[in-house]
Amino acid sequence: MSVTLTPSSIASEQRSTVRCASCGATLDDRTARATCPNCGGLLAVEHVAPKAKGAALRALFDDRLGAASYRGSAADRSGVWRFRELVLPAARPEEIVSHPEGNTPLVAREAVAGFAGVDALRLKHEGHNPSASFKDRGMTAALTQARRIGARAVACASTGNTSASLAAYAAQAGIPAFVLVPEGRVSTGKLAQTLAYGAHMIRLRGDFDDCLELAREASEQLGIYLVNSLNPFRVEGQKTIVLELLQQLGWESPDWIALPAGNLGNTAAFGKALREAHALGLIDRVPRLLAVQAAGAAPFAAGFADDFATRRRVRAETAATAIRIGDPASWDRAVEAIRFTQGHVVAVSDAEIFAAKRVVDACGVGCEPASAASVAGVRTLVERGVIGREERVVSVLTGHLLKDPDAALAARVAGGLGAEEPLTRAEALGHLERVLSSSH
Ligand SMILES: [Zn+2]
Repeated sequence: MSVTLTPSSIASEQRSTVRCASCGATLDDRTARATCPNCGGLLAVEHVAPKAKGAALRALFDDRLGAASYRGSAADRSGVWRFRELVLPAARPEEIVSHPEGNTPLVAREAVAGFAGVDALRLKHEGHNPSASFKDRGMTAALTQARRIGARAVACASTGNTSASLAAYAAQAGIPAFVLVPEGRVSTGKLAQTLAYGAHMIRLRGDFDDCLELAREASEQLGIYLVNSLNPFRVEGQKTIVLELLQQLGWESPDWIALPAGNLGNTAAFGKALREAHALGLIDRVPRLLAVQAAGAAPFAAGFADDFATRRRVRAETAATAIRIGDPASWDRAVEAIRFTQGHVVAVSDAEIFAAKRVVDACGVGCEPASAASVAGVRTLVERGVIGREERVVSVLTGHLLKDPDAALAARVAGGLGAEEPLTRAEALGHLERVLSSSH
């Protein structure tokens, strides 16, 4: 793949440091480690601040979005790499593995705003990414890092969107991918994608934690690059959900950004994005984050209720599988994100999530169950008077409707659609007439 770059679009002189949050150890930005080699702690990427700040930095990002991006570099066409000074500035153009991804729509639908109870509700639909979930934003960064370090293979433990995204980006990079999944429920859409993109899937007798343990061992013993949610470069890519929605709003911050919260990777990434965007003068005002959990998997919401006095774990149960997590990995960073943004955490029932999903689906937008939590959570906080009707809210939808076709069908059949016996032509005509006359 050849890409053309103008000198002003090359950011490679700008370096980054990878630092352990627990012991403070620092690693070069070409590290193959996903966690700290000294203490096993979480790693975070810190960038040297770009020279441009405030209006100049906004102009740089906006220029890349303009007509020039059709003729410019592959990186400029990506909704992730457009912001590369804040993602991985040292990556060389030939190292970047980009579909491209991002560039997801920010849509307004009256029916959804009416359901949530706010006048100005926008939906940032991350299901419009290449593998149909937000995970592509982190995966383009992680596979770029895999290419930079010359990884022989990549692996993750996942039951869903992560494995589909990993499989897609590994295929593009030409790097073998291994996906470790626990026995039991995997949604049809995600399983089909992972296999079709050509990943090696290993089904393990055990649960998700057993898969994670095996992935770590394989990483240590076989030199396979681990791209689980703890991978620090994935966080850097996921930050661009926020950067892109701010750009779409003309860098005018909304009052709230609502998102589904399971493993808390996005909550952490959104907090980091907002801290950096504010420090660099991209925005004047920091929007409040609203992290929404499913009531059956809500340790973070319980923590919020007592000001995060203790870290909590629960046995998770919810039909919103993408946020069915009982022991969130990014807890500490998500706490920081909620505190920094004066945010809020709320739990909603599965019934509330599916009620929101039916509204989002029926207006022609559609999303997977977990995504609808971000709409259900806004409705709950409007009812409680925490969010005002006049406030501007962006709800992030993390995955496409077809990620979980069984859930979509179940939601409609429960509403009385699709369950009928096949009709003869004469019966069908009569049926059409009745439906038309009853809809007026
Ligand atoms: Zn450490």
